[in-house]
Amino acid sequence: MFFDAHVHLQAPELAPYWPEVARDLEAMGLMCAVVNGTEEADWPAVAALADRYEWVLPSYGLHPWLAARRSPRWLENLVVRLDEEATLGRRHAIGEIGLDRWRRPFDAADQQDVFLSQLALGTARNLPVSIHGLKAWGPLDELLHRAPVPARGFLLHAYTGPASMVPRLARRGAYFSFNGRFLDPRFLQAMDTFRHVPHDRLLIETDAPSMRPPASHVSHPLPTAADGHAPNHPANLAAVYPALANLLNLSETTLRTLIKANFERFFGPPPGPPRRNIPERDELPRQPVEPAA
Ligand SMILES: [Zn+2]
Repeated sequence: MFFDAHVHLQAPELAPYWPEVARDLEAMGLMCAVVNGTEEADWPAVAALADRYEWVLPSYGLHPWLAARRSPRWLENLVVRLDEEATLGRRHAIGEIGLDRWRRPFDAADQQDVFLSQLALGTARNLPVSIHGLKAWGPLDELLHRAPVPARGFLLHAYTGPASMVPRLARRGAYFSFNGRFLDPRFLQAMDTFRHVPHDRLLIETDAPSMRPPASHVSHPLPTAADGHAPNHPANLAAVYPALANLLNLSETTLRTLIKANFERFFGPPPGPPRRNIPERDELPRQPVEPAA
């Protein structure tokens, strides 16, 4: 049983492989994948994937890289998406949102506004929020301590901030998701940081089609695309579990139990079987009244 806390299944790089990717994920025993939208244009594809695959947990948000091309009505459009999911009674989330000081140029003030308005929505509805913070963990830490945050906590996806910030962020409600890419020796520091994450705040993610793990942990290769990069197949997740268990000195069974509990605490338990249509009390047939003698 595997849980992917952050993936972009709707991305064009994976779209040509959807049927086989879905088959591979089902075959490996994937229980749930949180599919993160990144801008208004890809939200319909996220919803369509959730309609098609019951293991897709849809998440809608505006990514800092794409914030500049949002429509004037983007926030209302986001609210409509969340309302639709609530009406369907489907688990849903907000993401991917965040700050990014790595890709240049960036407009820090605008990023902050866009981030805070989405965080406020997550807080008001107590929804899981998936946060990106490339080279921006310091400013994020400050905002997350200044602004109200969802009562259930929030997810720092592919956390690469300093280990020293982990206890303070955990006290504020942070979950931290480990990415398979961190198994590359170039990410030794991120790997070490995860030894400091409280076990009840640990999640695992792929961020596929990005963040391909090192070749030693690629169980499901995909062909190299026109841009010279091979997309990360989300089923590579299976190889990350034993690697992280090893890093944390846990048995794989213990890690799996831990991740399942954390995932279901943060994103909510899976919906039960469809409810039978039980009539409301007032609709129950009444006892016939005995006619007066
Ligand atoms: Zn992402």
